[in-house]
Amino acid sequence: MSYITKSPWVIHYDGSSCNGCDIEVLACLTPMYDVERFGIINTGNPKHADVFLVTGSINEQNISVVKQIYEQMPEPKVVVAIGICATSGGVFRECYNIKGGVDTVIPVDVYVPGCAARPEAIIDGVVKGLGVLAEKKAAMKEKAIAVLDTEAEAPAPEPPIEIQVYGSTEPREHGGAHDASTPGKGEA
Ligand code: SF4
Repeated sequence: MSYITKSPWVIHYDGSSCNGCDIEVLACLTPMYDVERFGIINTGNPKHADVFLVTGSINEQNISVVKQIYEQMPEPKVVVAIGICATSGGVFRECYNIKGGVDTVIPVDVYVPGCAARPEAIIDGVVKGLGVLAEKKAAMKEKAIAVLDTEAEAPAPEPPIEIQVYGSTEPREHGGAHDASTPGKGEA
């Protein structure tokens, strides 16, 4: 985990599930497994999160919730599908309202198999996700540098067009600007 330069924050959402994987994610936060020792913090705000942990499958009611959480997370971000339900729909796959795994609505970077997924496997999945996060961050940095280089190589902008003045630049006799030596309106 030497590539991590800041504490990764995770956000967790439980879709359509039996809550088995949900409980195992919470177990990772307890003193027994204690992911906070790695600096990993569970947040409830998508705008603060780097890693999206999803348990359970996708159904018609949670599609918009999963999409909204994902879209509110800043780039770069990583999605970890935890358990066989989040991976493919699992035991709920044939149900009338189940669409499938998490990747039916948002891109998934890491799949953690299991029913339920064990805390060790979940922690391993998150660490793999952090590797993907580091790659995405490096790619974004390269892209930003390329854009800056392109801008630096761009030709200098044309100088402004010289304004041509036609006619006299002297103050007019009546109206307009005049100095003290020029009589104004009604002063002649
Ligand atoms: S993978 Fe198994 S334990 Fe996890 S939510 Fe699905 S049915 Fe429950």
